[in-house]
Amino acid sequence: MPKNQLSQRLVFAVDLGGTHLRVALVDDTGKILQHLKQETPRAESPDDILDALVSAKREWDCDNQPVVAASIMVPGAVDCDKAVVVQAPNLPSLINFELKAELEKRLGWPVFLENDANAAAVGEMWLGAARGCHDVVSVTLGTGVGGGVILNGKLWRGSHGSAGEIGHTTVDPFSGLKCKCGNTGCLELFASATAIVRMARELGMKAPTAEEVYEAGRNADEQALSVFKRFGMYLGIGLANLINLIDPQVIVITGGAVNGWDLFADEMYRQVGERAFRAIAQQVKIARSECGDNAGLLGAARLAFEQE
Ligand SMILES: [Zn+2]
Repeated sequence: MPKNQLSQRLVFAVDLGGTHLRVALVDDTGKILQHLKQETPRAESPDDILDALVSAKREWDCDNQPVVAASIMVPGAVDCDKAVVVQAPNLPSLINFELKAELEKRLGWPVFLENDANAAAVGEMWLGAARGCHDVVSVTLGTGVGGGVILNGKLWRGSHGSAGEIGHTTVDPFSGLKCKCGNTGCLELFASATAIVRMARELGMKAPTAEEVYEAGRNADEQALSVFKRFGMYLGIGLANLINLIDPQVIVITGGAVNGWDLFADEMYRQVGERAFRAIAQQVKIARSECGDNAGLLGAARLAFEQE
Protein backbone atom coordinates (compact mmCIF):
# COMPACT_ATOMS: atom_id res chain seq x y z
CA MET A 1 0.00 0.00 0.00
CA PRO A 2 1.50 3.42 -0.92
CA LYS A 3 2.51 5.61 2.02
CA ASN A 4 -0.11 8.29 1.46
CA GLN A 5 -2.87 5.75 1.90
CA LEU A 6 -1.81 4.63 5.35
CA SER A 7 -4.02 7.14 7.13
CA GLN A 8 -6.98 6.49 4.87
CA ARG A 9 -10.14 5.33 6.62
CA LEU A 10 -13.06 3.70 4.85
CA VAL A 11 -16.73 3.24 5.66
CA PHE A 12 -18.87 0.44 4.25
CA ALA A 13 -21.96 2.51 3.44
CA VAL A 14 -25.30 0.89 2.63
CA ASP A 15 -28.42 2.41 1.10
CA LEU A 16 -31.17 -0.02 1.99
CA GLY A 17 -33.82 1.36 -0.33
CA GLY A 18 -37.30 -0.05 -0.79
CA THR A 19 -36.42 -0.74 -4.43
CA HIS A 20 -32.63 -0.87 -4.66
CA LEU A 21 -29.90 -1.99 -2.34
CA ARG A 22 -26.71 0.01 -2.90
CA VAL A 23 -23.42 -0.51 -1.17
CA ALA A 24 -20.27 1.61 -1.40
CA LEU A 25 -16.83 1.83 0.12
CA VAL A 26 -16.30 5.52 0.88
CA ASP A 27 -13.07 7.13 2.08
CA ASP A 28 -12.83 10.07 4.49
CA THR A 29 -12.64 12.59 1.65
CA GLY A 30 -15.94 11.34 0.22
CA LYS A 31 -14.40 9.37 -2.62
CA ILE A 32 -16.39 6.27 -3.60
CA LEU A 33 -13.92 3.44 -4.18
CA GLN A 34 -16.35 0.58 -4.76
CA HIS A 35 -20.02 0.57 -5.58
CA LEU A 36 -22.73 -1.97 -6.27
CA LYS A 37 -26.43 -1.74 -6.91
CA GLN A 38 -28.98 -4.55 -6.99
CA GLU A 39 -32.65 -5.06 -6.34
CA THR A 40 -33.48 -5.13 -2.65
CA PRO A 41 -34.27 -8.69 -1.53
CA ARG A 42 -37.86 -8.49 -0.33
CA ALA A 43 -38.36 -11.78 1.48
CA GLU A 44 -40.23 -11.84 4.75
CA SER A 45 -37.05 -12.23 6.74
CA PRO A 46 -34.06 -9.89 6.32
CA ASP A 47 -31.62 -12.81 5.86
CA ASP A 48 -31.15 -12.21 2.13
CA ILE A 49 -30.29 -8.57 2.79
CA LEU A 50 -27.69 -9.58 5.37
CA ASP A 51 -26.26 -12.20 3.00
CA ALA A 52 -25.93 -9.60 0.20
CA LEU A 53 -23.92 -7.32 2.49
CA VAL A 54 -21.66 -10.10 3.70
CA SER A 55 -20.93 -11.16 0.14
CA ALA A 56 -20.09 -7.55 -0.88
CA LYS A 57 -17.67 -7.41 2.03
CA ARG A 58 -16.01 -10.59 0.86
CA GLU A 59 -15.94 -9.59 -2.81
CA TRP A 60 -14.22 -6.30 -2.01
CA ASP A 61 -11.68 -7.99 0.25
CA CYS A 62 -12.63 -5.64 3.07
CA ASP A 63 -10.73 -7.61 5.68
CA ASN A 64 -7.54 -6.30 4.11
CA GLN A 65 -8.68 -2.68 3.96
CA PRO A 66 -8.93 0.04 6.63
CA VAL A 67 -12.70 -0.17 7.07
CA VAL A 68 -13.70 1.45 10.37
CA ALA A 69 -17.48 0.99 10.38
CA ALA A 70 -20.59 0.11 8.43
CA SER A 71 -23.27 2.78 8.10
CA ILE A 72 -26.72 1.71 7.02
CA MET A 73 -29.42 4.06 5.76
CA VAL A 74 -32.97 2.77 5.89
CA PRO A 75 -36.21 4.15 4.44
CA GLY A 76 -37.95 4.64 7.76
CA ALA A 77 -37.69 5.87 11.30
CA VAL A 78 -34.71 4.65 13.30
CA ASP A 79 -34.40 4.50 17.04
CA CYS A 80 -30.71 5.37 17.20
CA ASP A 81 -30.39 4.46 20.89
CA LYS A 82 -31.93 1.04 20.58
CA ALA A 83 -30.49 0.73 17.05
CA VAL A 84 -33.60 -0.76 15.55
CA VAL A 85 -35.86 0.34 12.73
CA VAL A 86 -39.22 1.37 14.16
CA GLN A 87 -41.08 2.25 10.99
CA ALA A 88 -40.36 1.23 7.38
CA PRO A 89 -43.48 0.93 5.20
CA ASN A 90 -41.41 -0.25 2.21
CA LEU A 91 -39.28 -2.80 4.09
CA PRO A 92 -41.51 -4.30 6.78
CA SER A 93 -39.11 -7.20 7.39
CA LEU A 94 -36.77 -4.78 9.18
CA ILE A 95 -39.24 -3.46 11.73
CA ASN A 96 -38.01 -4.20 15.25
CA PHE A 97 -35.38 -6.55 13.81
CA GLU A 98 -32.07 -6.25 15.69
CA LEU A 99 -30.36 -4.90 12.57
CA LYS A 100 -27.37 -3.28 14.27
CA ALA A 101 -26.57 -6.20 16.54
CA GLU A 102 -27.02 -8.77 13.78
CA LEU A 103 -24.88 -6.83 11.28
CA GLU A 104 -22.13 -6.22 13.83
CA LYS A 105 -22.00 -9.97 14.35
CA ARG A 106 -21.95 -10.79 10.65
CA LEU A 107 -19.74 -7.94 9.36
CA GLY A 108 -17.40 -7.51 12.33
CA TRP A 109 -17.44 -3.69 12.34
CA PRO A 110 -19.32 -1.14 14.45
CA VAL A 111 -22.63 -0.51 12.69
CA PHE A 112 -24.58 2.75 12.60
CA LEU A 113 -28.18 3.13 11.43
CA GLU A 114 -29.69 6.28 10.01
CA ASN A 115 -32.87 7.37 8.26
CA ASP A 116 -32.21 7.81 4.53
CA ALA A 117 -33.37 11.43 4.26
CA ASN A 118 -31.29 12.41 7.29
CA ALA A 119 -28.24 10.86 5.66
CA ALA A 120 -28.95 12.76 2.43
CA ALA A 121 -29.02 16.05 4.33
CA VAL A 122 -25.62 15.30 5.85
CA GLY A 123 -24.21 14.26 2.46
CA GLU A 124 -25.31 17.53 0.85
CA MET A 125 -23.83 19.54 3.74
CA TRP A 126 -20.55 17.67 3.49
CA LEU A 127 -19.98 17.66 -0.27
CA GLY A 128 -23.04 19.04 -2.05
CA ALA A 129 -25.42 21.97 -2.39
CA ALA A 130 -25.33 22.84 1.33
CA ARG A 131 -21.53 22.99 1.67
CA GLY A 132 -20.52 25.61 4.23
CA CYS A 133 -24.05 25.88 5.69
CA HIS A 134 -25.10 24.89 9.22
CA ASP A 135 -28.90 25.23 9.10
CA VAL A 136 -30.00 22.89 6.35
CA VAL A 137 -33.17 21.08 5.38
CA SER A 138 -33.16 18.39 2.71
CA VAL A 139 -36.34 17.25 1.02
CA THR A 140 -36.10 13.94 -0.83
CA LEU A 141 -38.65 13.44 -3.60
CA GLY A 142 -38.58 9.73 -4.38
CA THR A 143 -41.13 6.94 -4.17
CA GLY A 144 -42.25 8.89 -1.09
CA VAL A 145 -41.14 12.22 0.35
CA GLY A 146 -38.54 12.35 3.11
CA GLY A 147 -36.87 15.18 4.96
CA GLY A 148 -33.74 15.78 6.99
CA VAL A 149 -33.10 18.71 9.31
CA ILE A 150 -29.67 19.97 10.36
CA LEU A 151 -29.53 22.72 12.99
CA ASN A 152 -26.24 24.33 14.03
CA GLY A 153 -24.42 21.70 11.99
CA LYS A 154 -26.03 18.79 13.82
CA LEU A 155 -28.66 16.40 12.62
CA TRP A 156 -31.94 17.00 14.45
CA ARG A 157 -33.49 13.55 14.90
CA GLY A 158 -36.25 14.56 17.31
CA SER A 159 -37.12 12.97 20.64
CA HIS A 160 -38.28 9.72 19.01
CA GLY A 161 -36.20 9.55 15.85
CA SER A 162 -38.76 10.84 13.38
CA ALA A 163 -37.99 14.56 12.98
CA GLY A 164 -38.14 16.03 9.49
CA GLU A 165 -40.99 13.89 8.14
CA ILE A 166 -42.15 16.67 5.88
CA GLY A 167 -43.70 14.12 3.51
CA HIS A 168 -46.34 13.42 6.12
CA THR A 169 -47.30 16.97 6.89
CA THR A 170 -50.77 17.86 5.66
CA VAL A 171 -50.99 20.10 2.61
CA ASP A 172 -54.57 19.31 1.55
CA PRO A 173 -56.95 17.96 4.19
CA PHE A 174 -59.89 17.99 1.78
CA SER A 175 -58.37 15.90 -1.01
CA GLY A 176 -59.89 12.67 0.36
CA LEU A 177 -56.63 10.91 -0.50
CA LYS A 178 -55.42 8.49 2.12
CA CYS A 179 -51.72 8.12 2.85
CA LYS A 180 -50.09 4.86 3.96
CA CYS A 181 -49.17 6.61 7.24
CA GLY A 182 -52.89 6.74 8.07
CA ASN A 183 -53.32 10.48 7.53
CA THR A 184 -55.07 12.13 4.58
CA GLY A 185 -53.71 14.85 2.31
CA CYS A 186 -49.98 14.36 3.06
CA LEU A 187 -47.40 16.16 0.91
CA GLU A 188 -46.16 12.74 -0.25
CA LEU A 189 -49.48 12.23 -2.05
CA PHE A 190 -48.71 15.15 -4.37
CA ALA A 191 -44.95 15.61 -4.58
CA SER A 192 -43.47 12.12 -5.06
CA ALA A 193 -42.75 9.94 -8.09
CA THR A 194 -45.74 7.83 -7.06
CA ALA A 195 -47.91 10.95 -7.05
CA ILE A 196 -46.79 11.94 -10.55
CA VAL A 197 -48.00 8.62 -11.91
CA ARG A 198 -51.30 8.78 -10.00
CA MET A 199 -52.06 12.37 -11.02
CA ALA A 200 -51.26 11.55 -14.66
CA ARG A 201 -53.64 8.59 -14.59
CA GLU A 202 -56.35 10.75 -13.06
CA LEU A 203 -56.07 12.92 -16.15
CA GLY A 204 -56.40 9.88 -18.38
CA MET A 205 -52.73 9.65 -19.38
CA LYS A 206 -51.48 6.18 -20.15
CA ALA A 207 -48.12 6.67 -18.52
CA PRO A 208 -46.97 3.93 -16.19
CA THR A 209 -43.79 5.69 -15.00
CA ALA A 210 -42.90 9.14 -13.69
CA GLU A 211 -40.15 9.36 -16.33
CA GLU A 212 -42.71 8.98 -19.08
CA VAL A 213 -44.84 11.77 -17.63
CA TYR A 214 -41.71 13.91 -17.47
CA GLU A 215 -40.83 13.15 -21.09
CA ALA A 216 -44.36 14.06 -22.13
CA GLY A 217 -44.06 17.33 -20.20
CA ARG A 218 -40.80 18.17 -21.94
CA ASN A 219 -42.62 17.66 -25.21
CA ALA A 220 -45.18 20.24 -24.05
CA ASP A 221 -47.99 17.74 -23.40
CA GLU A 222 -50.57 19.82 -21.56
CA GLN A 223 -51.74 17.11 -19.20
CA ALA A 224 -48.20 16.27 -18.18
CA LEU A 225 -47.46 19.95 -17.64
CA SER A 226 -50.50 20.28 -15.40
CA VAL A 227 -49.34 17.27 -13.36
CA PHE A 228 -45.99 18.96 -12.68
CA LYS A 229 -47.68 22.27 -11.97
CA ARG A 230 -49.80 20.58 -9.31
CA PHE A 231 -46.70 18.82 -7.98
CA GLY A 232 -44.91 22.20 -7.73
CA MET A 233 -47.88 23.84 -6.06
CA TYR A 234 -48.06 21.35 -3.20
CA LEU A 235 -44.28 21.17 -2.88
CA GLY A 236 -44.19 24.97 -2.63
CA ILE A 237 -46.84 24.91 0.10
CA GLY A 238 -44.75 22.37 2.04
CA LEU A 239 -41.55 24.38 1.57
CA ALA A 240 -43.23 27.61 2.67
CA ASN A 241 -44.30 25.86 5.88
CA LEU A 242 -40.73 24.64 6.36
CA ILE A 243 -39.28 28.10 5.82
CA ASN A 244 -41.63 29.67 8.36
CA LEU A 245 -40.97 26.88 10.84
CA ILE A 246 -37.19 26.47 10.57
CA ASP A 247 -35.75 29.47 8.69
CA PRO A 248 -32.87 27.46 7.18
CA GLN A 249 -30.02 28.83 5.08
CA VAL A 250 -30.75 26.33 2.35
CA ILE A 251 -33.33 23.72 1.40
CA VAL A 252 -31.79 21.04 -0.80
CA ILE A 253 -34.16 19.09 -3.02
CA THR A 254 -32.93 15.55 -3.68
CA GLY A 255 -34.36 12.27 -5.00
CA GLY A 256 -35.34 10.96 -8.41
CA ALA A 257 -38.28 13.32 -8.98
CA VAL A 258 -35.91 16.30 -8.84
CA ASN A 259 -35.34 15.50 -12.53
CA GLY A 260 -38.64 17.25 -13.22
CA TRP A 261 -37.28 20.51 -11.75
CA ASP A 262 -37.70 22.55 -14.95
CA LEU A 263 -41.39 21.60 -15.04
CA PHE A 264 -42.31 22.23 -11.38
CA ALA A 265 -39.87 24.89 -10.11
CA ASP A 266 -41.82 27.99 -11.30
CA GLU A 267 -44.96 26.96 -9.47
CA MET A 268 -42.94 25.87 -6.41
CA TYR A 269 -41.25 29.29 -6.19
CA ARG A 270 -44.58 31.06 -6.74
CA GLN A 271 -46.18 29.29 -3.80
CA VAL A 272 -43.16 29.91 -1.58
CA GLY A 273 -43.25 33.59 -2.55
CA GLU A 274 -46.94 33.85 -1.68
CA ARG A 275 -46.93 31.89 1.55
CA ALA A 276 -43.62 32.19 3.39
CA PHE A 277 -42.54 35.32 5.27
CA ARG A 278 -41.37 37.42 2.36
CA ALA A 279 -38.21 38.89 3.84
CA ILE A 280 -37.08 35.45 5.00
CA ALA A 281 -38.07 33.51 1.88
CA GLN A 282 -36.00 35.84 -0.27
CA GLN A 283 -32.91 34.79 1.65
CA VAL A 284 -33.52 31.04 1.87
CA LYS A 285 -31.86 29.27 -1.02
CA ILE A 286 -33.79 26.40 -2.58
CA ALA A 287 -31.19 24.29 -4.38
CA ARG A 288 -31.08 21.12 -6.40
CA SER A 289 -29.01 18.26 -5.04
CA GLU A 290 -25.37 18.24 -6.13
CA CYS A 291 -24.61 14.73 -4.84
CA GLY A 292 -27.48 13.12 -6.76
CA ASP A 293 -28.05 9.45 -5.96
CA ASN A 294 -24.99 9.40 -3.72
CA ALA A 295 -26.14 12.02 -1.18
CA GLY A 296 -27.33 9.38 1.29
CA LEU A 297 -24.35 7.05 0.93
CA LEU A 298 -21.95 9.95 1.44
CA GLY A 299 -23.93 11.26 4.39
CA ALA A 300 -24.07 7.81 5.99
CA ALA A 301 -20.30 7.54 5.60
CA ARG A 302 -19.73 10.98 7.08
CA LEU A 303 -21.93 10.18 10.10
CA ALA A 304 -19.93 7.02 10.74
CA PHE A 305 -16.60 8.86 10.48
CA GLU A 306 -17.91 11.38 13.03
CA GLN A 307 -19.10 8.73 15.49
CA GLU A 308 -16.36 6.19 15.01
ZN1 LIG B 1 -48.61 10.38 5.22
